[in-house]
Amino acid sequence: PSAMREVFIETPTVRWSDIGGQTEVKQKLKECVEWPLTNPETFTRLGVAPPRGVLLYGPPGCSKTLTAKALATESGINFMAVKGPELLNKFVGESERAVREVFRKARAASPSIIFFDEIDALATSRGSDHDGPNQGVLTSLLNEMDGVEELSGVIVVAATNRPDVLDSALLRPGRLDRILYVGPPDFDARKDIFRIRFSKMAVEPDTGIEDLAFLTAGCSGAEIASICQDAALMSMNEDLSAPYVRKQHLLDAAKSVRRRITPTMISQF
Ligand code: ATP
Repeated sequence: PSAMREVFIETPTVRWSDIGGQTEVKQKLKECVEWPLTNPETFTRLGVAPPRGVLLYGPPGCSKTLTAKALATESGINFMAVKGPELLNKFVGESERAVREVFRKARAASPSIIFFDEIDALATSRGSDHDGPNQGVLTSLLNEMDGVEELSGVIVVAATNRPDVLDSALLRPGRLDRILYVGPPDFDARKDIFRIRFSKMAVEPDTGIEDLAFLTAGCSGAEIASICQDAALMSMNEDLSAPYVRKQHLLDAAKSVRRRITPTMISQF
């Protein structure tokens, strides 16, 4: 059975303001993707070449996907998401065809962003990859990226937790030539993320956001989101008609959260 689901053009609704922290990443993406689309004349006049592709790398759950979606929303362009592993197919030639098809659709929907999540699955360094079943896929990906002319309005955004295994050919100028680290949230960013979550759920007044940010040191944004979910369920378990999520449940959930990001993992980036 084909592992490749159909790739659809999406219209994301994520805004920059839905992402806590990551000020620098947002700013860089505005400069290099949003501005060239909204002010192409200025870029031509001042002689700045917009990037073809951007690599977002960093630990899991820290808003790489969210960022790619916000970039599409804020730039007012179409969005297509493809997971690297989904493009791999055991039938010879199928994966290559799928890669070409993704770019064909993106060109037809331009201006657009193709988001390749888990790009490492497709683009592992050729030397390190035993017999290289990915070889053909990587080659098609590189060909397609080179074929995307500057003005065709297709921007490739790729994400990975394993930047170290990527084939360097992918990172050459004209390919993924802007490389941005999307790291775990610091104290202020964690406060921001809680604030963003709380704007979408009823919480007890005077919820100690500072305490929560303090307790969640080392957590990803995804883990903060799951703390909020867990706390909401605890509140419902206590009282099915609960008017809001109780502070105590948020604190309890924050204390028992399991962290996926380890210091060793961070030190590798
Ligand atoms: P992975 O590497 O596992 O694919 P990712 O870096 O792409 O993860 P996302 O999928 O963007 O992470 O984030 C997962 C969820 O975590 C988001 O849908 C959101 O609910 C929450 N989240 C993560 N980071 C943030 C953030 N900075 N602000 C708000 N929410 C966040």
